[in-house]
Amino acid sequence: MPHLTSRDPDQLWTSGQWMTERSGGSDVSGTATVARHDGGDWRLWGTKWFTSAVTSEVALTLARPEGSPEGSAGLSLFLVEQRRADGTRNGIRILRLKDKLGTRALPTAELALEGCRAEPVGDLGRGVKKITPLLNITRLHNAISACGMMARLLQLLRDYARRRVAFGSPLARKPLHRETLAALQVEYEAALALTFDCARLLGKVEAGEASEEERATLRLLTPLCKLLTARQAVAVASEALEGFGGAGYVEDTGLPVWLRDAQVLPIWEGTTNVLSLDALRAVAREGVLEPWAGQAARRLEALASSPLAEGAREMRRRIEEAPRALGALAAAGPEVAESAGRRIALSLAGLSAAVALAEQGAWALAHGRGERAALAAERWLAQRVPELPSADEATARLAASAALSGLAE
Ligand SMILES: Cc1cc2nc3c(=O)[nH]c(=O)nc-3n(C[C@H](O)[C@H](O)[C@H](O)COP(=O)(O)OP(=O)(O)OC[C@H]3O[C@@H](n4cnc5c(N)ncnc54)[C@H](O)[C@@H]3O)c2cc1C
Repeated sequence: MPHLTSRDPDQLWTSGQWMTERSGGSDVSGTATVARHDGGDWRLWGTKWFTSAVTSEVALTLARPEGSPEGSAGLSLFLVEQRRADGTRNGIRILRLKDKLGTRALPTAELALEGCRAEPVGDLGRGVKKITPLLNITRLHNAISACGMMARLLQLLRDYARRRVAFGSPLARKPLHRETLAALQVEYEAALALTFDCARLLGKVEAGEASEEERATLRLLTPLCKLLTARQAVAVASEALEGFGGAGYVEDTGLPVWLRDAQVLPIWEGTTNVLSLDALRAVAREGVLEPWAGQAARRLEALASSPLAEGAREMRRRIEEAPRALGALAAAGPEVAESAGRRIALSLAGLSAAVALAEQGAWALAHGRGERAALAAERWLAQRVPELPSADEATARLAASAALSGLAE
């Protein structure tokens, strides 16, 4: 632990998490890595198919102790040190580095675990449950990366717009170019507000100061925040490159790397669909919707006398409507709710971002900190928060999508 929290470059360690195998990353139930108790030590045998930061000193990984049942239930969590005390590799062979679209600064490897010594984390069993807190942190970090990428691209775009002259004046003076950048800024402001809301809640949980309502809200917001911000980063990176014209497509400007790097954000740490289904499960089985709606309603109530009161009323209407709409979707059957999962998630994520952004906007106005966040909140709510699908519409769409996808039996 001291190595993992150290800020001293000579002392600090980084950590990986090796879950994905050939059989799957979203679905780890087919994990084939075996853990054997051998001469007092646990040793792991298997192949890990995607291991990022293979330069890290330690990693958390899943393995099936010999004799454990099939499926996710038989998995346990182990801590692996990549090297032994004498500096030699701890029974870990790098089969190859992945040849990736982006994130090339980060080596991602396929690894063979050939009797690598490992330490069980706590008692054996409940491996997937035990690694979940780590995923919550990496998902928040994913969102922070998404915000960082958007911020940097917007800075570069603004700089370019002031210098690049087309049709007799700088791009910065073209109303339509300004409109394009404004739309990107709205994405960034919403992403940042939602991400910081999650960071605030995670901080409270870690400090032991979170209420049950806050814990439940964080449970729902974590997958929503990750999935929304990752998609925003890809869309913003694509639009940003276009904003540089041909230069955005040419490697020596250093710009294409942003799009390549952004594209991983919706894939690792849970794809959009996988996280949408995770959010649906949290709603259906963990009762997180009411606490989420309760805290949102109170925060919006506090905006009743602010310049954002009208938007706050509209958000409240939609949030109060959510439990009934989701109940109707669930009643229409598991396939209907599942097929609408992504739209449900994007709607709840959009509303969550709207609440955080409106709060930020009102605060900034009240404290003389500019109108940007308030303007962004109004536009986000008006244009970027999809309505929850109705049960009838989702039911009709289920059959049509089976045909449209080309995958109907
Ligand atoms: C650069 C990079 C680095 C990585 N580093 C690591 C690492 O360090 N450690 C690690 O453990 N993993 C790592 N991964 C793996 C990554 O986490 C997985 O690739 C990711 O979780 C997706 O899993 P999968 O590849 O099995 O895709 P699949 O699960 O096969 O998904 C394929 C598609 O099916 C969809 N899908 C899957 N299930 C459902 C469902 N039930 N309903 C609807 N749609 C569904 C997905 O959304 C996706 O679009 C890395 C991946 C990349 C690209």
